[in-house]
Amino acid sequence: MDNNINELACKLLETRKLTAEEYAYLIEHRDSETTEFLREHAVCIRKETYGNEVLIRGLIEVSNICKNDCLYCGIRKSNWRAERYRLSEKEILSAAETGYGLGFKTFVLQGGEDAWYTDERLERIIRQIKKKYPDCAVTLSLGERGRESFQRLRAAGADRYLLRHETADREHYRKLHPPEMSFEHRMECLRELKELGFQTGAGFMVGSPFQTTENLAMDLKFLEEFQPEMCGIGPFIPHHDTPFSEYNAGSVELTCFLLSVIRIICPKVLLPATTALGTLDPEGREKGILSGANVVMPNLSPANVRSKYLLYDGKLAAGAEAAENLADLKQRIEKIGYKVVEKK
Ligand code: SAH
Repeated sequence: MDNNINELACKLLETRKLTAEEYAYLIEHRDSETTEFLREHAVCIRKETYGNEVLIRGLIEVSNICKNDCLYCGIRKSNWRAERYRLSEKEILSAAETGYGLGFKTFVLQGGEDAWYTDERLERIIRQIKKKYPDCAVTLSLGERGRESFQRLRAAGADRYLLRHETADREHYRKLHPPEMSFEHRMECLRELKELGFQTGAGFMVGSPFQTTENLAMDLKFLEEFQPEMCGIGPFIPHHDTPFSEYNAGSVELTCFLLSVIRIICPKVLLPATTALGTLDPEGREKGILSGANVVMPNLSPANVRSKYLLYDGKLAAGAEAAENLADLKQRIEKIGYKVVEKK
């Protein structure tokens, strides 16, 4: 092992933080030995809090209608080829009912920024889910909203909110988003969510266009400081009807390396092995868990809309990715020495 790298890896384990320059060096010069060393420690750290348990969340993709135009995303508003849909209150509740029957104790309502989901409607949906399933958690992932809106959703009973920061570098953020979107506002939302008592999730894509090692180092610095309760990272995967269609997908190996580093920086974080990881590599989910991840989020959307929530090409929605095939997923997780549990 390269001496510097060895020292940096040990320093990371001891202090749970590095400078941005050190993170960049670690990423740039990682070799298989360092990767394995950090992976083993990440797994030990996850086991101290979570043992060998893997938590499951039922992902309900409520709408692919979006007012935003993020350059990487397949459901951006400029993509007129996307066939749009939105689930009614009834359909969302029915998906939750199905999920509860399957053993899910957390429902994640994710979607584009669709103005139809007013505070009133969301409050009603959240209240009904929490009333019917008091032993369950509701996670929202509906993009940026105002502080007052977040407050109302929280008061209605929402427990968690996922809002990936996407990149911690302002300049990089500008290259991934249209001019009307702002890095400052996204970060402000994240701070507000935390203040309002949401368990808050940040995160970023690995290998997004124009991303540099320094950008990733900034992402890690941000996580170190923000200490989110959840963190979603997955490889960027191009979508054929976006301006980024010709860019390469991110690396599974680097994503797994970063999962280990994030587990070390935020020992108790809820860290999913994401759909994007499973999409790029048939063993991606397993690799993610073996690198320190402890959450999987099978798809609980009604079958007829699954193919329409296409954030990137090839997005998995079948097999072990589908909530109704939980038995498959359980088996695969058991094969690698872990156990799916029905906990919120
Ligand atoms: N509108 C919500 C949900 C967005 S979809 C929000 O703004 O938070 C959830 C995540 O999918 C995004 O945060 C983004 O990081 C990821 N994503 C979008 N397009 C992607 C792509 N082409 N490849 C990989 N991940 C992508």
